Amino acid sequence: MSCLFCKIVEGVIPSTPVYQDEFGYAFADLHPQAPVHVLIVPRRHINSMADANQDDRSLLGHLLWAAAEIARNKHLDEGYRIVVNTGVEGGQTVDHLHLHLLGGRQLTWPPG
Ligand code: AMP
Ligand code: ZN
Repeated sequence: MSCLFCKIVEGVIPSTPVYQDEFGYAFADLHPQAPVHVLIVPRRHINSMADANQDDRSLLGHLLWAAAEIARNKHLDEGYRIVVNTGVEGGQTVDHLHLHLLGGRQLTWPPG
């Protein structure tokens, strides 16, 4: 198992847990870009959104719901952003599908 986020899901590499259920695991980003910066990952390894297939549709919906649930728990009542960097040009640096939940400050648009 060489994938960083698989190791985090397995607990081989430590993380700060935020939320977990049978399908997903969420933890604090090591280099937060906002007061709230949480990563939500599927327990099962999927490389990226580009590799998600038809069978993953409900899992993807579940992860989005989990992100919104975390945002509610964190009282991000003024809003937040969910980002899924995908592939090289998308800025993905870890090849295990993950959602960024960012909030707690005014976010700007467009992103870089
Ligand atoms: P991306 O660039 O979209 O692939 O996002 C990868 C994210 O993983 C970055 O925001 C990193 O700060 C974060 N990250 C990398 N290593 C760790 C780690 N060991 N624990 C928590 N977050 C990490
Ligand atoms: Zn993985």
